[in-house]
Amino acid sequence: MNVADLLFGDLASIISIMIVLVILVLMFVMSVRLFLDRRKKGYLSMTISIVIVALHYMLQFYLKLHALDTSLTAYILLVLKIISFVLLNMGIYQLYNKTKRKQYVFFYGLIVMGLIVSLLHFFIPRMYSGTEEQVKLLQDLGLELYVFLLIFLCFYLIPPFIGQQVKYQIALTVYFLNQTAHLINVYAYSDANRWFSLADRGLPLIYYFLLFMLLFERIVELMQAIYNSSITDGLTRLYNRKFFYNRVTQYVQRHLPIAILFSDIDNFKKLNDTKGHQMGDDVLKQVAQILKDEVEEYGIAGRYGGEEMVVMVTDPSVKMEEFAERVRKRIESETIVTASIGFSKYKSGLSAEELIKQADEAMYKAKSTGKNKVVKYA
Ligand code: GH3
Ligand code: MG
Ligand code: MG
Repeated sequence: MNVADLLFGDLASIISIMIVLVILVLMFVMSVRLFLDRRKKGYLSMTISIVIVALHYMLQFYLKLHALDTSLTAYILLVLKIISFVLLNMGIYQLYNKTKRKQYVFFYGLIVMGLIVSLLHFFIPRMYSGTEEQVKLLQDLGLELYVFLLIFLCFYLIPPFIGQQVKYQIALTVYFLNQTAHLINVYAYSDANRWFSLADRGLPLIYYFLLFMLLFERIVELMQAIYNSSITDGLTRLYNRKFFYNRVTQYVQRHLPIAILFSDIDNFKKLNDTKGHQMGDDVLKQVAQILKDEVEEYGIAGRYGGEEMVVMVTDPSVKMEEFAERVRKRIESETIVTASIGFSKYKSGLSAEELIKQADEAMYKAKSTGKNKVVKYA
């Protein structure tokens, strides 16, 4: 065996098919996992399409091993190819979107149209009389060309609705090159040009690898999103109480010189009552954004309760009086509410709970002595 056998011979097809199958198995495991975890019907078509692609390649593998190549096997392979291509692209669309009836009609419509075009396979031998070889070539040309239509439709229609658009379009371009090489080889060189054969075998590896990466990245994205939503508050996007508390605990346990700022919006109930809950929510978001802006480089901000927000300043060089005053002023000037703020600095021996409670007490003092002011815990 030499390099030429490895690249161009029958062995090359078999190796290529086996690598594709390995990639497909990995994709299958991921997409089943995604489906079971999230129980979303949308993730099913990805799984089904991977099974059909795998069937397509296993059949190819079987036919290669037994040197079977009839007009019927070619037809079956081609139909499987069309169905799996459409389902796979539908699966990618569904990774990012809820599928509505309209989209199902579109994707299944493409499959049905493919099946209709595929009937040429049975009509052409009756309508066209040529040599057996000519008939065989012509039989499936319609379906092969239909693949191009599918590629173009996906290339232009799907990217606006998904993430990783560039990767997706590169994958489709690879598929396009693959299909082109395949057709040139079959129709211009009777399947005998070694370079086009090489492309026909090598490009699917790139195509499926890119799809694998696309699926993989999407799963990482989804996991990241789940994690983020489990530690943040949905309305303000600040860290939630539990996460904030845990973070403070970590710092306190290491005796780091942190400070806690506790803020409570003044007369918020009245705002809700007079201007409505929606306005109340908007104000909460504005105040949260101010805290986030201000603390960005020095620590973290969290939502402690309804309109109570907290900040942990981890940078010991920050002057807390000035920092708290800056926050108070910004809330006063940029929103329609004011806030009372208390803060407390960590001292050895304090627990996280005690430290936060001190800041809360200082805030309470600010409330009870006129509101819209900053009080340091003493
Ligand atoms: P004070 O100046 O003493 O702090 O008065 P207050 O009205 O702000 O104090 P209180 O704690 O009695 O009221 C807090 C109100 O915050 C009660 C509740 O209706 C409102 N609130 C809590 N969470 C939310 C929320 O997510 N959205 C909106 N719009 N209002 C909320
Ligand atoms: Mg309150
Ligand atoms: Mg309040």
